[in-house]
This record gives sequence, C-alpha cells and structure tokens, in this order.
Amino acid sequence: SAPDTTYKRVMLKISGEALMGDQGFGLHPPTVQRIAEEVKSVHDLGVEICMVIGGGNIFRGLQGSAQGMERTTADYMGMLATVMNALAMQSALEALDIHTRVISAITMNEVAEPYIRRRAVRHLEKKRVCVFAAGTGNPYFTTDTAATLRANEMKCEAIFKGTKVDGVYDKDPAKHADAKRYDTVSYDDVLAKRLGVMDASAIALARDNNLPIIVFSLDEPGGFRGILAGRGTYTKVHG
Ligand code: UDP
Repeated sequence: SAPDTTYKRVMLKISGEALMGDQGFGLHPPTVQRIAEEVKSVHDLGVEICMVIGGGNIFRGLQGSAQGMERTTADYMGMLATVMNALAMQSALEALDIHTRVISAITMNEVAEPYIRRRAVRHLEKKRVCVFAAGTGNPYFTTDTAATLRANEMKCEAIFKGTKVDGVYDKDPAKHADAKRYDTVSYDDVLAKRLGVMDASAIALARDNNLPIIVFSLDEPGGFRGILAGRGTYTKVHG
C-alpha cells in the first residue's frame, strides 16, 4: 500500500484567521487545539515540521495604514500579532506533548528564541516543531513571504498552505458556482492570472527556488496528513 508520506521536512503556512473560529476576531483556543492535532498527526509520522502563522485575526498593517497609521509602525504591529498566534500554537502543541520552539524574527528573548538558522535546523532534526514568528522582521512583507523564505532556509520540500478552500480556483469559488479548481498550476500562471494563492513576492521567491506550494483545505479533519500522503483534493503550484 502507498506510504503515509514521503516528505521529510515541510512548511505549514496558515493565516491568522484560521485560528479565530467563528468569532470574527482574535484567537479561539479550541480551534487552535484542533489545528495542533492536525499537526500532531503529521509529526507522529516522523515528518519535521516548520510553521508560519499570519496575524490577520488580530492586526493587518495595510488596514492600520488605511485608517491613518504610519505604515511601517502598523506593519510592526502586524508582526507582533503573529507572535501572539505562534505562542497560542506552541501552547496547544505542548498540550499534546510536542516539543515546540517559537522563533522570532524580531528579538524578544523573554518570549521567543531569536532566529539563528543553524539552531532552527537542529531543532527540526530533534523533531521539535519550529513556529517562525514575526514574519520576515521587515515591514512591507507578508507572512506568505516569510513562510517561503524560511522554507527555503530550512530546505523544506514543500510549503503546505492551509486555507478555507481545497485548492486554487480560476475564480472565487465562494462567489461563482462554476469556479474550476486546478490540480496543478504554474507559478507564472498564478502571477499572470493573479490567482491569489499568495502574494506576488512569495510566489516569485518560491518559483526562483523551485519550492512547490500545495494549497489544501484546513477544514477537512485529517486533511493535512491525508494531503501529505497525496490523498484528497488540493492544488500543486510548481514550475
Ligand atoms: N507583516 C510584516 N512583515 C512580514 C510579515 C508580516 O510587516 O514579514 C505584517 C503585515 O502588516 C501583515 C501582518 O504582519 O499585514 C500580518 O501578517 P499577514 O497579513 O501575512 O497575516 P495573514 O493574512 O496570513 O493572517
């Protein structure tokens, strides 16, 4: 029978909104716990796991700046929001006995480790889940770009982007009944057709390093583990 997975090291990217449940804002601990269980089911296979969690459930720089805040300050607030989400995920993973390190791109030694590449690699080798927080540490970027950057640095075999839908569609499936899902799509098509998988800088960074992006639904219980084994529906973005 087919193996449960052939992956050794992966990046899981989820948006901050994935952690808010039906609340419309902030953190919903039972939802965080459910996602932690999805992560555990993959960790149990021996796969080394990196995670990047967005901050949109708490604060987005662009929204702040649209309401009159200075853009870079607003972006730093967004980065801090991702740290809160990372700590919530660490707490949920540790409740499942999974050793987890939060590694921040902005130094804050009391709550998270600083990002030191070789140290992060060592954590992964020891099967600790690494949650990379504070994005890239730079304003004007997103956590999609941070996920792609860290996935390259950690030499992950792919980015698994967990979303509300089971892949990439030619138009928004929530608004169009005839929207078509791609099984595979090229980086260039994602950029040219503005398919909204990730922002353009993240797609370009993945393309230039040949890092596949697998878009799947996080709402499906057991979905993450199934997708790693090639089961279920998803879209693979590649060269
Ligand atoms: N952010 C940033 N630089 C980064 C990553 C994130 O400035 O490298 C800020 C940006 O303001 C962004 C916010 O953090 O709006 C939250 O991240 P993102 O929007 O990517 O979260 P998601 O949509 O995935 O929840």
